[in-house]
Amino acid sequence: MLHGIGMTSQRTRARMIERLREKGIRNEAVLNAMSAVPRHVFVEEALASRAYEDTALPLGMGQTISQPFVVARMIELLLNGRPMLGKTLEIGAGCGYQAAVLAQLTSEVYAVERIGPLLEKAKANMRTLQQFNVRLKHADGHFGLPEAGPFDSIIVAAAGTRVPQPLLEQLAPNGRLVLPVGTTEQYLSFIERTPQGFVETRLDAVRFVPLLAGTQ
Ligand code: SAH
Repeated sequence: MLHGIGMTSQRTRARMIERLREKGIRNEAVLNAMSAVPRHVFVEEALASRAYEDTALPLGMGQTISQPFVVARMIELLLNGRPMLGKTLEIGAGCGYQAAVLAQLTSEVYAVERIGPLLEKAKANMRTLQQFNVRLKHADGHFGLPEAGPFDSIIVAAAGTRVPQPLLEQLAPNGRLVLPVGTTEQYLSFIERTPQGFVETRLDAVRFVPLLAGTQ
């Protein structure tokens, strides 16, 4: 029944895309990117049957794989009015799910993760998917990735108490940064580097794991 398992995955993946539409994701490029990445590869085998539910799931080391809607929403914000993401930096790669989605929308993704074993999982997952345009680095994302910047798009998958200054500095002209900010109460912040300076828009209430200092 191997064939059957494949069909189930196809169907549940299609249902995930329908749910994203219902929740308001409109950008077809984002929906295509979400549908191209097999989320079950990124979750533990015991949870594979739940991989296409629109919920965060545990990925080990006390961290979670992000909720599909939140991934889609943040990427839609970054993309708004542009065909591609340009050079992209992700902070908090976990085991690489969102990085793989980003990699459908640009030729160059850099992703950093502070927990070594998760980074190794992310590398293995990229090999499994043959996703060769994602470069992964074990580092504290508070400092961005100065050696690879500036970036057209920066996305942060963990909530800091405020916006890390190096991330602003590493934004290219007209670059965009989307990140959760706060502790118990968090909101999504969207920042654009315009010719007149940084313009911040505060958006939805969200719930992310904390952006922590240092590596482990
Ligand atoms: N992007 C992942 C989400 C992982 S959860 C996905 O698609 O599923 C957020 C991740 O941010 C965790 O793995 C956590 O270890 C990492 N993180 C937290 N603080 C960090 C920091 N300062 N630098 C890099 N990664 C960090």
